Amino acid sequence: MKDYKNEDVLVLFSGGQDSTTCLYWAKKHFKNVLALCFTYGQRHSQEVDNARRIAEMADVSFKELDASIISELAPNSLTNLSITMDEEKPANALPNTFVPGRNMLFLTFAAAIAYAQGIKHLITGVSEADYSGYPDCRDTFIHSVNSSLNLAMDYSFLIHTPLMWLDKKNVWRLADELDVFNIVRNETLTCYNGIIADGCGNCPACKLRKKGLEEYLLARR
Ligand code: ZN
Repeated sequence: MKDYKNEDVLVLFSGGQDSTTCLYWAKKHFKNVLALCFTYGQRHSQEVDNARRIAEMADVSFKELDASIISELAPNSLTNLSITMDEEKPANALPNTFVPGRNMLFLTFAAAIAYAQGIKHLITGVSEADYSGYPDCRDTFIHSVNSSLNLAMDYSFLIHTPLMWLDKKNVWRLADELDVFNIVRNETLTCYNGIIADGCGNCPACKLRKKGLEEYLLARR
């Protein structure tokens, strides 16, 4: 990894395991870090408060942006509490936690903010290793949107995806290598039921996180 110690970066940040690992990865490789957190009718507004708290702990700038318009675009169980969340990925369909267009819009909003501040680097914690079926988490999409943003703004953005090829076990490993294993384990919020750290243990996000953690702890011994 090339170091960008003289350059600033914007991290798309939710305060979960993945984006918090990205935040500390950004601190290691870049000069100033801006954490951008979107609000969009998440099931738990606590998610935003927790994200702000982690950004303060990490001593990076924090910006909150209202993106609640995305909850009006299409029905999904992340923003509509009356829809029961899919436990598993249905056959031949995306899980109803999928929010159509979300990452495209988030990256566009993030790029516009970065542009205004003279920032060229963007980091997002998407991954296609533990592939949930979300098309906007794939490497090919990231390359495509990177090209489109550069054309749209006549600017040289570089989107970094440090987790793209890491499964959850290796995301834990990366946090450990960055010396923030305990911070990521104890302070982040991944759980769909709004419980920080190890979470409720039963929702799809907790199950994925726990499986990776157990695999990593076993491998680390
Ligand atoms: Zn949970």
